[in-house]
Amino acid sequence: MNESRIASASEMTTMHCGGAIARLFEPETKDQLKLLLSSLDSFLVIGGGSNMIFSDGTTKVPVIRLGNGFNTVEHQEDIITVGASVSTSGLLNYCVRNALTGLEFLAGIPGTIGGALFMNAGTPGKGIMDAVLVAEFMDREGLHSLARKELPYSYRNGGFPADAVITGARLDVHKSTPEEVRSAMESFIVRRRSQPKGHSCGSVFKNPEGAAAGYLIEKAGLKGYRIGGAFVSDVHANFIINDRDATAADVQSLIRMIKERVKEQFGIELQEEVRIVD
Ligand SMILES: Cc1cc2nc3c(=O)[nH]c(=O)nc-3n(C[C@H](O)[C@H](O)[C@H](O)COP(=O)(O)OP(=O)(O)OC[C@H]3O[C@@H](n4cnc5c(N)ncnc54)[C@H](O)[C@@H]3O)c2cc1C
Repeated sequence: MNESRIASASEMTTMHCGGAIARLFEPETKDQLKLLLSSLDSFLVIGGGSNMIFSDGTTKVPVIRLGNGFNTVEHQEDIITVGASVSTSGLLNYCVRNALTGLEFLAGIPGTIGGALFMNAGTPGKGIMDAVLVAEFMDREGLHSLARKELPYSYRNGGFPADAVITGARLDVHKSTPEEVRSAMESFIVRRRSQPKGHSCGSVFKNPEGAAAGYLIEKAGLKGYRIGGAFVSDVHANFIINDRDATAADVQSLIRMIKERVKEQFGIELQEEVRIVD
């Protein structure tokens, strides 16, 4: 039986803004998820909320967050089978404990494996989809398992259908030693240490072809620019920081303004990496 509850978008996202979510469902098993999908006309999925912003009003569309039944990880030789609600850090701890290499580039990225797969999260040169052997997702028609080459993934886009609930994946890894895995992770963590501190959603915009969004925003003179409780980071201009109880409207106004200025100055249309739920 799937029951919903009211939840706070601000508490469920790393940007810490937004209003209420009227109906949050947290299915624990694939059977519950199947039943739930058959009962909903529309829905959206949230993982760790590290790449999502909800508006200040009440979000009426049902929101699904996979429960603990999807928080499983195991491996056999060179294959890890991971559930979608496992956190990225939880997966990497598992890799260290079991001396499995290949996923260290995810170190320091917040959120869940479901979110990482949907976003094809990673570094500028590499995304988690590069490590996928098979991804599993459910839609109203049932459960699907697709090999990586069957998914049209690209930079910050896992290539999943819009109505897919990713339930897990099998990932390609190799045997190593705990020390080597830890040390490879450390090099990514050190790089990410220079990222801005504070409540954020990471990079707000995707890097346009051949350019860096942060560079364009900085050159448009917007570092430090503030609207209400949110401002463009002085450390990395592609980050918006919520330091004074920003509303989602503050953040959205800042996003609109950045897009306008960059378009005016460089003729480039920035595209959001963050998902905004209006
Ligand atoms: C400080 C900071 C640093 C960051 N650094 C990086 C970085 O270096 N590289 C990078 O790529 N990203 C980075 N991010 C962005 C973010 O952490 C990643 O995109 C992350 O993988 C999102 O995972 P999540 O579980 O939080 O997804 P959410 O934010 O919850 O969701 C993101 C998207 O995925 C969808 N989704 C989530 N779970 C599922 C599911 N099970 N099935 C279907 N769809 C789903 C949501 O509907 C939404 O569209 C950073 C964010 C922060 C706050």
